[in-house]
Amino acid sequence: MNILLLGSGGREHALAWKIAASPLTDKLFCAPGNAGIAREAECVALDIADHIGPTKAAAQLEGSKGFTKDLCRANDIPTAAYERFSAAAPAKAYVRAQGAPIVVKADGLAAGKGVVVAATVAEAEAAIDMIAAQADLGSEFVVEEFLTGEEASFFVLSDGENAVPLATAQDHKRVFDGDRGPNTGGMGAYSPAPVMTPQMSERALAEIVRPTIAAMKKLGTPYKGVLYAGLMITAAGPKLIEYNVRFGDPETQVLMLRLMSDLVTALVASRDGMLKSFDLRWYPDPALTVVMAAKGYPGAYKKGSVIDGLDAAGEVEGVEIFHAGTKADGTRVLSNGGRVLNVSALGKTVAQAQARAYQAVDKIRWPDGFCRRDIGWQAVKREKEKA
Ligand code: AMP
Repeated sequence: MNILLLGSGGREHALAWKIAASPLTDKLFCAPGNAGIAREAECVALDIADHIGPTKAAAQLEGSKGFTKDLCRANDIPTAAYERFSAAAPAKAYVRAQGAPIVVKADGLAAGKGVVVAATVAEAEAAIDMIAAQADLGSEFVVEEFLTGEEASFFVLSDGENAVPLATAQDHKRVFDGDRGPNTGGMGAYSPAPVMTPQMSERALAEIVRPTIAAMKKLGTPYKGVLYAGLMITAAGPKLIEYNVRFGDPETQVLMLRLMSDLVTALVASRDGMLKSFDLRWYPDPALTVVMAAKGYPGAYKKGSVIDGLDAAGEVEGVEIFHAGTKADGTRVLSNGGRVLNVSALGKTVAQAQARAYQAVDKIRWPDGFCRRDIGWQAVKREKEKA
């Protein structure tokens, strides 16, 4: 079949790499694509807002935090205790009654700016004022209990009725080593997430994902497609922090490296409502990806600098390089965004995948770029403790 993939990031390059390898794919197109995707697909200029995916009603699972919280409450899905507010004063009264730490969220999509984990009541009140003052964040809030534990991303594919687990991953959101500095779209990731043992994945499916899929169907807005659950693994078990209605970036890069089965067959089965007895096979080896970003990211950065050494880097054993913000200029590859490359590797251990990824990073000559040097540190520490 002919397939059109929408997007231009590292996530889409990883998907293009996997889709192009499917025996079901006759021709792969990508709009708009990037310099790496151009090797897997024919890049075309189309309006990427004119697309298919989960319906608008089903996408509320990401678009409205209040919608998702109410759905959890109505269906006994474990999540942080919360209340919704449409004005600042009662939200502040609730914060004072609950005490800190506490979490303040704008209801709608806020490009990551709408969540404040407040250590004090004063900080929470300031967050409420900040959200109320920004017209584009709307005036709906969710104020919720602060959860402690380890975070993990859990991905499933749904056909509206059934959910097939994809895999788990952990990402690194902060820009600098040691998980310091401002939040970014993600500076690296690895899969599987060690905290998501098979038992914990089964609990996340049974207690969170399946009840969500059933509730969406009952509402008349069945959810079809990839569902990404951001979880906190607490002492009491998995709790939902949020849903995203799409593949994660850079988590997809490590998921695609570990996926043994044909992705296209799975996506078609999701569309056709045929996931009931569907199974996906995964390589047991862990995968890790290091994001190379333009200096200055997530603040202001330059575009258009030359990146050399990609071929040599791609020859390191177990390594695949997925492009994000790149542009071809004849035979040269130029930077064209904030997050620019995903240097990804499989290994027998996370430590080996990490060593291979950094060996490849060190072959890339791009003076205007930088990366974190500690991606996967928690998992590597765990491996050392076990050994
Ligand atoms: P969200 O956009 O809802 O995923 O929130 C962004 C980040 O804020 C999460 O990845 C967590 O690190 C943190 N966070 C959100 N909600 C909570 C919570 N209830 N307790 C602790 N941390 C949270």
